[in-house]
Amino acid sequence: MMHKACPKCHGDVYRQTWPDLTVDISCLQCGRILTQTEVQAMSQRVMASKRTPAMATAA
Ligand SMILES: [Zn+2]
Repeated sequence: MMHKACPKCHGDVYRQTWPDLTVDISCLQCGRILTQTEVQAMSQRVMASKRTPAMATAA
Protein backbone atom coordinates (compact mmCIF):
# COMPACT_ATOMS: atom_id res chain seq x y z
CA MET A 1 0.00 0.00 0.00
CA MET A 2 1.25 3.45 -0.94
CA HIS A 3 -0.19 6.35 0.99
CA LYS A 4 -1.55 9.38 -0.88
CA ALA A 5 -0.27 8.14 -4.25
CA CYS A 6 -3.50 8.52 -6.23
CA PRO A 7 -3.12 11.30 -8.84
CA LYS A 8 -6.86 11.96 -8.80
CA CYS A 9 -7.85 12.13 -5.13
CA HIS A 10 -4.50 11.61 -3.35
CA GLY A 11 -5.94 8.55 -1.66
CA ASP A 12 -4.11 5.39 -0.73
CA VAL A 13 -3.37 2.95 -3.54
CA TYR A 14 -2.80 -0.79 -3.34
CA ARG A 15 -1.59 -3.58 -5.61
CA GLN A 16 -4.37 -5.68 -7.09
CA THR A 17 -3.72 -8.99 -8.84
CA TRP A 18 -6.39 -10.23 -11.24
CA PRO A 19 -7.18 -13.91 -11.96
CA ASP A 20 -5.19 -13.64 -15.23
CA LEU A 21 -2.17 -12.46 -13.17
CA THR A 22 -2.38 -8.91 -14.46
CA VAL A 23 -1.31 -6.54 -11.71
CA ASP A 24 -2.86 -3.13 -11.30
CA ILE A 25 -2.27 -0.38 -8.80
CA SER A 26 -5.65 1.00 -7.82
CA CYS A 27 -6.98 3.56 -5.39
CA LEU A 28 -8.83 2.57 -2.24
CA GLN A 29 -10.75 5.84 -2.10
CA CYS A 30 -11.93 6.44 -5.67
CA GLY A 31 -11.18 3.11 -7.38
CA ARG A 32 -9.02 4.72 -10.06
CA ILE A 33 -6.50 2.37 -11.67
CA LEU A 34 -3.12 4.00 -12.22
CA THR A 35 -1.66 3.90 -15.72
CA GLN A 36 1.71 2.27 -16.35
CA THR A 37 3.24 5.74 -16.69
CA GLU A 38 1.85 6.79 -13.32
CA VAL A 39 3.05 3.58 -11.68
CA GLN A 40 6.55 4.09 -13.09
CA ALA A 41 6.63 7.70 -11.92
CA MET A 42 5.47 6.60 -8.49
CA SER A 43 8.14 3.89 -8.15
CA GLN A 44 10.83 6.30 -9.34
CA ARG A 45 9.84 8.69 -6.57
CA VAL A 46 10.10 5.84 -4.06
CA MET A 47 13.54 4.88 -5.38
CA ALA A 48 14.69 8.49 -5.20
CA SER A 49 13.48 8.91 -1.63
CA LYS A 50 15.35 5.76 -0.57
CA ARG A 51 18.61 6.90 -2.16
CA THR A 52 21.14 8.04 0.39
CA PRO A 53 23.28 11.17 -0.20
CA ALA A 54 26.38 8.97 -0.53
CA MET A 55 24.78 6.87 -3.27
CA ALA A 56 23.56 9.98 -5.07
CA THR A 57 27.11 11.31 -5.14
CA ALA A 58 28.43 8.02 -6.51
CA ALA A 59 25.84 8.05 -9.29
ZN1 LIG B 1 -8.09 8.04 -5.79
